Amino acid sequence: MTTPLISVKDLTIRFRTDEGLITAVEDVSFDILPGQVMGLVGESGSGKSVTAKALMQLNAGNTRYDPASKILLDRPEREPLDVLSLKRDRDLRVVRGGAISMIFQEPMASFAPAITVGEQMVEQLLIHTAMSRVQAKALSIEMLDRVGIPDAGRRFGQYAFEFSGGMRQRAMIAMALSTKPRLLIADEPTTALDVTIQAQVIDLMKDLVSDFGMAILFITHDLGVIAQTADKVAVMYLGRIVEKGTVRQVIKTPLHPYTQGLLNALPKINDLEAELTPVPGDIPSPLDRPPGCVFNTRCPVAIAGVCTTQVPRYSEGEGGRKVACHLVERHQAEAVAT
Ligand code: SF4
Repeated sequence: MTTPLISVKDLTIRFRTDEGLITAVEDVSFDILPGQVMGLVGESGSGKSVTAKALMQLNAGNTRYDPASKILLDRPEREPLDVLSLKRDRDLRVVRGGAISMIFQEPMASFAPAITVGEQMVEQLLIHTAMSRVQAKALSIEMLDRVGIPDAGRRFGQYAFEFSGGMRQRAMIAMALSTKPRLLIADEPTTALDVTIQAQVIDLMKDLVSDFGMAILFITHDLGVIAQTADKVAVMYLGRIVEKGTVRQVIKTPLHPYTQGLLNALPKINDLEAELTPVPGDIPSPLDRPPGCVFNTRCPVAIAGVCTTQVPRYSEGEGGRKVACHLVERHQAEAVAT
């Protein structure tokens, strides 16, 4: 069996606020194998970015991880590294920008405005590798060229504001990949781009996965993007994973009512006239988490007296597929009984 590159186990994250402790992520577990692309999907407020940032301990200072939470990073010929046990910046640098890199929706957030793109790439390489400045510059230009930035040598000396939106996104990917991370976290990397550029960036990321052999955690609210990019997917709602499995399983036969709702809200390529049906209502505030199933306030098929009082357990399906829903559990029990 392949050893996971990263194993997230029972991750529960709370934030200390003036209103009290807020649960942002609860009992989240998943593995990512080397070379695998995993999608983390959900509306904003579902906890996907908070989960991803935990992998590099990037959440704010008021964050509390429950003691049972584990994030284990595989290391060749050594015990896995427990990322959440790291306290010193020096140790965290092994993870941040070393084993794991992250790219964001808004690339300007990754680049300091008053330092050239090239200088920032070089500085990152000097921190994380044993390269000389000359080698770091050569690799940075090579990476800019590799992600399709024309005239990379000249662009190396420019500032991020001199790049177009799509080109900035490419430069951010080049910077994130130059240290050869084993895992790239891509947080809504294509959301701010127009459709053509979005497709180019997705193709670029797919090429890089096969060329560099790294894994990707792809965060998005768009199941359509996941269908094009990922091998497996976890659907999050209000801090919990409600369904996970291979992309084929989850997109072809979604079992959880929330996953079904997300798919019904996507335009159908073969029927552009079809009416889109968004998931009704809004995701509740984490300060006001519903008891029982977290989706019960918006679920069209909630079971009275059950879904508002009991947290659903995961039902296991083929190939490690998991769904947390009382209705699915009932259907499976009925199928076994008949
Ligand atoms: Fe809907 Fe109940 Fe299933 Fe939650 S457990 S998704 S409320 S049917």
